Amino acid sequence: MVRENEIRQGERAVAPPPPTDAGLVFIGVIRTPWTSRMVTPRQGRADGPVCRIEVFDPWREALAGVAAFERLEVLYWLHLSRRDLVMQSPANDGSTRGTFALRSPVRPNPIGTSIATLVGFEGATLLVKGMDCVDGTPLLDLKPDRELFKPIAPPQTGDFEIG
Ligand code: SAM
Repeated sequence: MVRENEIRQGERAVAPPPPTDAGLVFIGVIRTPWTSRMVTPRQGRADGPVCRIEVFDPWREALAGVAAFERLEVLYWLHLSRRDLVMQSPANDGSTRGTFALRSPVRPNPIGTSIATLVGFEGATLLVKGMDCVDGTPLLDLKPDRELFKPIAPPQTGDFEIG
């Protein structure tokens, strides 16, 4: 069940350090039909509504070549999320899991990712399907779908060694 900011049964919050140790720039904004978290889908759907990803200056030039890709990985900042839960009860039914075992928007660095289908371009605005964020969500990055970027070098000794 979707939440605003309430703590559920079994959940545990911690006092996080001040969020000052990494600087991100918001490179655009995502426009969707959803004005609240309560009505936003949990995950984007390929047959969902067309949403608009507006890229700001000076990053518009970085869109060169993007139109060639049908699928894009979109990274965004889930700006309305609380960031202090280590244990979460997603369905509020008594089952509780660690934050890193969930795709919940509630996490220390609330980064969301979606694989979106590019359906059009209007200037520096991408028209995409497959989003699941509230209208006005800040955009962090756009990348071509990783499936197209398989490793090109054969495996080498040491690739899989740890430590
Ligand atoms: N697809 C992304 C992922 O897997 O990383 C996000 C999944 S998250 C479960 C999607 C939910 O986050 C939505 O259903 C909504 O409740 C919430 N959400 C959407 N936009 C948000 C925002 N800007 N700030 C906080 N929560 C948001």
